[in-house]
Amino acid sequence: ALDLSKTFDVSAPWLERKLTGAPQRLVRAVDGVDFSIRRGSTVALVGESGCGKSTVARMLVGLLPPTRGRVEIGGEPITALGTEPQAQAWRRRVQMIFQDPYASLNPRWRVAQTVAEPLLEHRLLGDREAIDAKVAELLGSVGLRAQDGQKFPHQFSGGQRQRISIARALATSPEFLVCDEPTSALDVSVQAQVLNLMRDLQQARSLTYLLISHNLAVVRHMADEIGVMYLGRVVEWADKASLFEAPLHPYTRLLLDAIPKLHPRAQARQPIEGEVPNPMQPPSGCAFHPRCALAGPRCRAEVPVLRQISPSRRVACHAVEEGRT
Ligand code: SF4
Ligand code: MG
Repeated sequence: ALDLSKTFDVSAPWLERKLTGAPQRLVRAVDGVDFSIRRGSTVALVGESGCGKSTVARMLVGLLPPTRGRVEIGGEPITALGTEPQAQAWRRRVQMIFQDPYASLNPRWRVAQTVAEPLLEHRLLGDREAIDAKVAELLGSVGLRAQDGQKFPHQFSGGQRQRISIARALATSPEFLVCDEPTSALDVSVQAQVLNLMRDLQQARSLTYLLISHNLAVVRHMADEIGVMYLGRVVEWADKASLFEAPLHPYTRLLLDAIPKLHPRAQARQPIEGEVPNPMQPPSGCAFHPRCALAGPRCRAEVPVLRQISPSRRVACHAVEEGRT
């Protein structure tokens, strides 16, 4: 992702604006997000809802065109993909797994049809026999049986349904999977099974993952590197060990402090203090300043840039830059 930005127009309809004189209103959902993911590794984007992480995900898979910037895979830009064969090739290489497996599966289709659909769309296999064999192999790779293909989604549990979505996502042998809260609709006991399956598949197929999650335990289990987002910007980027052991940005610390420390069950999750500001009227300077204990005059005036402070680490904070932590 290179300088990826997305602005949404949330104005009133044109005629109403004309009559009432209301101004055009734009929301900058994602602002200059820049990162790369090593092949075969997992990057997680974290942040409270509304921070822009799902918008980044949708731009990465080509579901949403960026307002500025671009996405590349192996050096090939996707926003420049004009012709149909190239767009098709892109959709084969990049797939997305959504939060709610029930909503993303067609309830009236047998599972085998759902899993076979990308194969047919991309004309990857010619005859019926080859497709049946491939579907059976895909179902097997996610821990389901070939005969499960004859059932309908409602006959499966939530975890099994997410396995079906994963099988479908793998049908085109993609290199890159974008997973938006892949397990947050599942019971805790089932979450770990699905996450471990994702890790096994990553190893077996050298998949690259972008994981969107608000659950830091999931992130810790899965990610190699983590990007922390706040109001459309990356505020800290770090390898997993650095981020969890020595978070630098005040917002990262706030997120980590909200994780129950000892016994996850014994202690209620600490609420995160302060509210996310309205993205329509972001605060001046550092958008985090109204919630930040370290905020000074410079923070209200000047947007901190994301600075590289070590090979694996970038932070956007005046206090960190000035050594006030
Ligand atoms: Fe806090 Fe200032 Fe750093 Fe923003 S730039 S996180 S307000 S210290
Ligand atoms: Mg979301």
